[in-house]
Amino acid sequence: GTNTAVSGLDSTFADELGVLTVPWQGAPAPDPKLLVLNEQLAASLRLDVAALRSEDGVAVLSGSAAPAGARPVAMAYAGHQFGGYAPLLGDGRALLLGELTDTDGRRVDLHLKGSGPTPFSRGGDGFAVVGPMLREYLVSEAMYALGIPTTRALSVVATGRHVYRNGAEPGAVLARVAAGHLRVGTFEFAVRQGEVLVSLADYAIARHYPELTELPATGERNRYLAFFEAVVEAQASLVARWMLTGFVHGVMNTDNTTISGETIDYGPCAFLDAFDPGAVFSSIDDGGRYAFGNQPAVLKWNLARFAETLLTLIESTPDDAIAAVSAVLDTFDERYDGHYTAGMAAKLGMDGEHIDRTLIDDLLTLMAQHGADWTGTFRALADELRENSAPLDGLVPREHIGPWLERWRDALTKQGHEAAQTAEAMDRVNPLYIPRNHQLDAALRAATDGDLAPFEKLLEVVTHPFDRRDEWSAYATPAPTVFTESFQTF
Ligand code: AMP
Ligand code: MG
Ligand code: MG
Repeated sequence: GTNTAVSGLDSTFADELGVLTVPWQGAPAPDPKLLVLNEQLAASLRLDVAALRSEDGVAVLSGSAAPAGARPVAMAYAGHQFGGYAPLLGDGRALLLGELTDTDGRRVDLHLKGSGPTPFSRGGDGFAVVGPMLREYLVSEAMYALGIPTTRALSVVATGRHVYRNGAEPGAVLARVAAGHLRVGTFEFAVRQGEVLVSLADYAIARHYPELTELPATGERNRYLAFFEAVVEAQASLVARWMLTGFVHGVMNTDNTTISGETIDYGPCAFLDAFDPGAVFSSIDDGGRYAFGNQPAVLKWNLARFAETLLTLIESTPDDAIAAVSAVLDTFDERYDGHYTAGMAAKLGMDGEHIDRTLIDDLLTLMAQHGADWTGTFRALADELRENSAPLDGLVPREHIGPWLERWRDALTKQGHEAAQTAEAMDRVNPLYIPRNHQLDAALRAATDGDLAPFEKLLEVVTHPFDRRDEWSAYATPAPTVFTESFQTF
């Protein structure tokens, strides 16, 4: 073809790891319409915004045309889903179009989701619909604005196809950008394919942890053990960020755990309203495996599945390999706790090294007992330091939180922190606006019915999570309780 709307795509993954891919192309879109385009992201990828908006550009972003010179592929992977092993999943409704180099010189994947059936579709139709694709667009961009490692969203195109979910819904394709689409599940697939495993590991190291390429392939500190450790660290840091922000991923299967350490796959995810460690928003997670408070433990479990795929690369005997990866996996809790405690200290305006862990735990207990709004409470605590007690009074009765507030203020004084400055520092790490479930739900309903205005407004707000603006005050208000008690994303 001669479609040049997107140029400069590389295909290093397809070239070097072809056995993990199937060359494929997207389904034609009957009536493609660009719903949203991330112009800043496009510019950072050196893409021409006008070209992306043109008929050729929209054809590429919908998957119906491949850019000239591109080698689109569906990627193979396996995965543990809700604890059970599935030997072959793969991109059942997605394509890797290729790789671009951004303005910082970093290689990123350009990927389509909802682009039609592939050899990995199994029982699925290969398509996606407008609501969930706009949902992924908005939540992933909100996560990015919050500073949390994540895949990003370039565009959503409505295809004009009727896709059957709860009746006919408008079809859509999301274009996603990521440091990489390698998953724990990619390794789970490759380990059963023999030789490709070492090539995959070397590719992943070169792309995501290039500082490790210098290490020897064998020996006590070999590059594969160091690679495992780097992924453990990246994921321990990531899940701590989720826990600090009240993010519930919802479907932490191993095929949704990246090697890059980015959040991926915004299906049934949600942000907490009322704090509840048992919060589950996905209707298919009836056992609560992926409940908010379980996320660090599940992540560690997923990393154990990852470790199992690397054993033969790490040591020559199984016993030595198991001992080596176990020692690294054992560091997960400490790494996680370190990130979480430092992050919580910052949320409370304190220095990480000297914070008393019971101060954190006792606040969490109070918040859980009173169902206090996660995001709102930390902003209300900063207001408390400004002698504005109304916001906190709306969340937790003073007679219950009073003694804790005294301990917190004492601890701040001991650390030599002055109230006004502490409040400012807290407001720089505690977001005012997150994608609140009730607002996102309303915006997606309107968008599905053809009115994008509420979506665009919410997108603007949640991509400026720390900028207080009077006209945005409705977006900082907790959801009505009736809504929070019954909400399901999926
Ligand atoms: P997920 O739970 O979103 O991570 O998806 C798990 C697997 O199901 C992946 O292999 C997806 O490609 C596949 N999948 C999800 N939805 C569809 C669909 N509508 N058609 C085909 N495959 C799908
Ligand atoms: Mg997935
Ligand atoms: Mg998904």
